[in-house]
Amino acid sequence: MSPAPTSTSSPPAPQSSAMPPSNNPASETSATGADTTAPGSAPEVKPSREALLRLEIRDLSSPGASTFLRVLHASHALDSAVSTVLRLLYTDLDQKCIPGTRSVTLVLRSMSGVAYTTGLDIDSDHKEIHLSTDYISRVDQNRVKEEINGVLVHEMVHCWQHNASGTAPGGLIEGIADWVRLKANLGPPHWKRDGDCNWDAGYERTGYFLEWLEKEHGTDIVRKINEGLRECGEYKEEEFWKGCCGSSVKNLWHGYQKSLAGHDKDPKEDQGQKEGEAPDKKGNEEENQHSSGDPLASSAPENEKAKAGSTRRGGRMHIPVRPPLDT
Ligand SMILES: [Zn+2]
Repeated sequence: MSPAPTSTSSPPAPQSSAMPPSNNPASETSATGADTTAPGSAPEVKPSREALLRLEIRDLSSPGASTFLRVLHASHALDSAVSTVLRLLYTDLDQKCIPGTRSVTLVLRSMSGVAYTTGLDIDSDHKEIHLSTDYISRVDQNRVKEEINGVLVHEMVHCWQHNASGTAPGGLIEGIADWVRLKANLGPPHWKRDGDCNWDAGYERTGYFLEWLEKEHGTDIVRKINEGLRECGEYKEEEFWKGCCGSSVKNLWHGYQKSLAGHDKDPKEDQGQKEGEAPDKKGNEEENQHSSGDPLASSAPENEKAKAGSTRRGGRMHIPVRPPLDT
């Protein structure tokens, strides 16, 4: 009795489009792939209810969508971004501190700018991250995977962070998002510490400030700040920073500036705002577009610096929001 032919019972060989990232099939944790799960770090932090993660691709034929599918496992990337954010913002905190985000949908579509996050009008516990396929197609192929992961982590922070019922400075909200990106080792190579601005200039400038605060006030200081934004109801600068760090933010920033003075400072190339980096005045503005900051993209003519941050694309601003303090 010969064994039954296997050709009819075996599953079909996977097609190339379904294969793992071609440039790194063995692992998602290489230098280019960005290890957003940080093995060996604190135990995984889980929300009381796991969020549904979804992917929507508006145009499969776009080069950016093809690149995304080629370099990333979408389910792994989203899952990993959630784990990274929850670990960095909620380790050692009670589960009730974690926003009740119910779903996150990544929408890949053609648009100017880089990415933004919104909550659905009907229920802000459902988030949408919009990521530009035009942007993806402009990023250097050598680091496109890391860049996409970095942008995803940044945007994912907005799906899970607190914002003092929308009263927190937009620069702080963006700084926390880039601090998480930084801690996940997903900061782009051109990021620089910069004290020649206000503390709430946002993005990596505030992100590096938060990183410095960790050294001065303990490694859980950003978790304290985020938790403070849940508890405070309304953000009041003096009170808030005294409560978190025992000092005014002006003094803290001054200390940070002094610490930078001891370092070699790179020539300041980015006068004013960088592409897409126009942090909200308040975290409750309805929309926010993010630069991730790829230098190649920054110089692209399509990148409409002035528009980013002000262009509205429907949907409400992303910042997470949970009762009783959130809207
Ligand atoms: Zn952001």
